[in-house]
Amino acid sequence: MRMSKAVRAVAAGTMLAIAAGCSASGDTPPAGAPSASPTATAIASAPVPSTPAPDAHQVALAALPANLRARIPQFPPAPPATKVTLPPGDSAGWYSRIPTDQKVAFITIDDGWVKHPLALKLFQASNVPITLFLEINAIKDNPDFFKPLQAAGATIENHTISHPNLRGRSYASQKREICGGADQLAQYYGRRPVLFRPPGGTHDATTLRVVKDCGMKAAFYWKETTDHGVVFYQEGKTVKPGDIILMHFRPRFVDDYLAVLNAIHKAGLTPARLEDYIP
Ligand SMILES: [Zn+2]
Repeated sequence: MRMSKAVRAVAAGTMLAIAAGCSASGDTPPAGAPSASPTATAIASAPVPSTPAPDAHQVALAALPANLRARIPQFPPAPPATKVTLPPGDSAGWYSRIPTDQKVAFITIDDGWVKHPLALKLFQASNVPITLFLEINAIKDNPDFFKPLQAAGATIENHTISHPNLRGRSYASQKREICGGADQLAQYYGRRPVLFRPPGGTHDATTLRVVKDCGMKAAFYWKETTDHGVVFYQEGKTVKPGDIILMHFRPRFVDDYLAVLNAIHKAGLTPARLEDYIP
């Protein structure tokens, strides 16, 4: 059960590159979650069964190839969330880190261009909360890809319709993108987003007013990015409590996701649900 050197090398931290643009498209085999089926085998009055019924998490973990399974860290449950205090007034909150001393970090995944066939299995096997900021143009070829991810614990939030640079645009223009994205996501997924990430993180004061007027409470930047299986830190060399980590649905999704999980684990933190921290 040893990992190959090549596999381990991916997790190593080096620098260079930056997470920016979003491209590439992917196809999408939606996957159904395997479920345990009851069997009508012997029901003896014998000793206690040694194998309790597996849950979806355990089934998914067991179903992964051993080299992937070995790279998925196990986390303690997240503590009860302590909510932030949103700013008063007519603008949404703006955060790159949730102000907290709790040993938590937040996984966020943007856009949705590459619909990687292992995403669902990885989400189920890791069994941690994730926030997806989906761009309508990136997902509209196959919005159904994300429904099982939602069922596996991911929360779908807003990332505009067409991924424009919002800074400097008129209120009306920003509203079309921000309200429009939220409306369409509500139609696709049955829940209207309450959080927002501006494309590229770029925004202005108008953006935060529009976000609030469109019914979302907070917007987010990040403290770490991930690409090609490497985590890039804006401050220091470790994930800190409350950090928001950015990744994308890219071709190297598996390596990126595992790098993020392991960076959080190495820091002694556990992934928590971003929505739980916003009142
Ligand atoms: Zn984006």
